[in-house]
Amino acid sequence: MTAAEAVRPLAGSSYSKAVVSPIMTDEQPLQLPQDKPAEPASPAVFAPPPVAPQAAVQAADDSDKLVFSRLRPLGQIDLTYIVAAADDGVYFIDQHAAHERVLYERIAAKAKTCGNASQQLAIPLALDFTPAETLLLIDGINNLRDLGFILEFFGDNSFVLRGVPQWYVYSEPDMLLRRLLDIVCDEQVDITHLRADQLFRAACRSAVKANQLLNMTDMVKLFQDLDASANSATCPHGRPLAIKLTNAEIRKRFLRGGI
Ligand SMILES: [Zn+2]
Repeated sequence: MTAAEAVRPLAGSSYSKAVVSPIMTDEQPLQLPQDKPAEPASPAVFAPPPVAPQAAVQAADDSDKLVFSRLRPLGQIDLTYIVAAADDGVYFIDQHAAHERVLYERIAAKAKTCGNASQQLAIPLALDFTPAETLLLIDGINNLRDLGFILEFFGDNSFVLRGVPQWYVYSEPDMLLRRLLDIVCDEQVDITHLRADQLFRAACRSAVKANQLLNMTDMVKLFQDLDASANSATCPHGRPLAIKLTNAEIRKRFLRGGI
């Protein structure tokens, strides 16, 4: 067994879930677990002090820039979140958002050197779209060419994709075009005025894999990549990458008060 395999059982184990899940729910992050003991007879006297939501689970980026490689990765929950320890608390990192941020920065840097140049596909791809998508693509075909796509309309709802932007180094180039159409539709973007950053986000969407099992080496590498990114506070869509549960909040939840 390799060292990498040895750490895998940590990921998503029932132990991690039992300990961490109650504070991970988006809607009610600060509720005590439902099976908490019955209320004391005189709640006014014995109730724990109310928890201030903002102080308890705070976005990790609200003070200084978080240095991810200083964290000690502990494992993975639900193939979605990395749990990592720091001296002053525990961090939960959305691995999908983190991966998206790393890819986005990498793509933007590569696009800077490649510009709008195209790369020809070794084998052109015949693609079918819905009638609505076909109308969009016909409208946007010139702008797509300026962004590096070589796309030809083939009649009915068919196109041939002959080339993609040179900076696109991932597999499934047709997915880049399809994710781009998703962004155009979801965000009601005018396809004749697509911007490069929208294209980069489409590239991230097509390249990031959801529910990926990460071993400790993967987590450490991801942390290093985040530290190398100019912006590691949010994903390219603005969602936070990390939330923090402070030691003080953990103490409060165990009703330890000042002890
Ligand atoms: Zn995102």
